[in-house]
Amino acid sequence: MDSTKIFSRIEKPLEREHRMSRRIDPQPSRRPPPALFATPGRENIEMNTNTRAQTGAGSLPYMYVLFSGLATTALTLLLVYLLNARADINLMGYYFDYVLPAGAMGVGILAGSGYGVMSWIAGVKIPRTLLWTIIFLQCVAYFYAQYIVFEHLHLVYSSTNQPVGFFEYFDWSARSFAFKEDNGETGNAMGAWGYAFRLLEVSGFAFTALLIPVWVSRVPYCDSCGRYMRRKAGAVMPGSVPFRKIKKSDTHAQAAYKEEGKQAVESAANALKVLGEMAGSGQIDALNNAFAALAPGRKAAHKLPVRHVLSLYFCPTCASGQLNVVPVSGHGKRMRWGKTVTCPIPGGRAGDGEQVR
Ligand SMILES: [Zn+2]
Repeated sequence: MDSTKIFSRIEKPLEREHRMSRRIDPQPSRRPPPALFATPGRENIEMNTNTRAQTGAGSLPYMYVLFSGLATTALTLLLVYLLNARADINLMGYYFDYVLPAGAMGVGILAGSGYGVMSWIAGVKIPRTLLWTIIFLQCVAYFYAQYIVFEHLHLVYSSTNQPVGFFEYFDWSARSFAFKEDNGETGNAMGAWGYAFRLLEVSGFAFTALLIPVWVSRVPYCDSCGRYMRRKAGAVMPGSVPFRKIKKSDTHAQAAYKEEGKQAVESAANALKVLGEMAGSGQIDALNNAFAALAPGRKAAHKLPVRHVLSLYFCPTCASGQLNVVPVSGHGKRMRWGKTVTCPIPGGRAGDGEQVR
């Protein structure tokens, strides 16, 4: 029988992480798996007791995050270098409308992905200091990559045969910045303006590296377990009546429409209050039923001028969770997301949150 087939069918994410730890650990039987890939068993309970020590700056999981980010940065810059050297493609130099450093931004997202992905896997809460550290490290990486390119060029002055210094090279490459036109011709060198484009490139590369880490840091987090919660259910609740065109002269219909709108807002507020109470008292089944009741009207609710987007998050370890409510108005380009209201759901139930579908 093909055992791997069965294994992949019953495999849960945690088991996959555990297998990962076994690959890393050469003596799995003698040593416990590293806390980073702990299973939700006894080891994890031990881990919970000193979460703060584990996730603070300088702790082991925090170092994993830093090293993963540095690894994705190094690999990305290697890719940029190889594309440049082998295929003459300057990925960093792609600009959108001559201003937006789209190439550097894309490369930055890829480079910074390691920080975000490892934070998620290791359950490291992302402190503000980490974001500043990422920006700093990205800047260092950018200049280091420039230095490596310079080293490989082995430049000498043709008149004296003296080696060219890095700063002279950097100055020259910044000043000779020029756009390649669509017809393949290279425009005039920018001179001192070239530095402005270098600055755009560095900042595009450094700041977009924060995109994935910041996105991860916005996911609800269980402080007591040191893990990111998983989104288990979503629903959309009507927040207004459908838009109707009514003649201004028809004051009677106008007043009726206004009253109808008022009632819709009131009933939404009441329903949200009830949901908040369910969440606050840990009535997970009641929340489930409420979400299920909203499911058939989801499409219609999405079309309304105002609606509330509800999400249920649960900690994979302790089943405590969070109900998030975001008011959304308008559609398309005029769509606006309001402030998220969060309501913690106390744990206390055994299980892994799977009871919430
Ligand atoms: Zn938890």
